[in-house]
Amino acid sequence: MKFKIDQNLKKIAKAVGRDPEIVRFELCERYVNAGMIVDDFMLYNESFATATKDENAFKVCDIFRDYLGVDFIPAPLFDALCNLVVMGGGDGECYCPECGGRFEEKERIYRTISPQTYEYPEEYEIIGYIYECPICGEKLETTEEL
Ligand SMILES: [Zn+2]
Repeated sequence: MKFKIDQNLKKIAKAVGRDPEIVRFELCERYVNAGMIVDDFMLYNESFATATKDENAFKVCDIFRDYLGVDFIPAPLFDALCNLVVMGGGDGECYCPECGGRFEEKERIYRTISPQTYEYPEEYEIIGYIYECPICGEKLETTEEL
């Protein structure tokens, strides 16, 4: 799992002086390892606050303080943390860029090569695929089979 790169993640990355591309994995991993975020696709596209359980509020702060290397978490950074968006860890074409869910084939696009006649059935070829993310509904149209 990882966090989505957005304004909130960039704010935190800036505070620790690291690349957002690294922070998105590192920070998420800390919470996953602590058992506070479970890698469940039902959580993809949800906020950090939703993905972590309420009773862990103190632990949430402990881990964040430790990550930032500070004794006191500035309020804007804590807000940024709570509003981070959880994504699936998958990368590449099969995975939704919005939430990290795995794309599912929805439809095939056909092109007729020769129309149906009395003697021959219609001939067609596949020229494209439409994939849809089952979690956030993001669509992808491509000529390739994923
Ligand atoms: Zn998605």
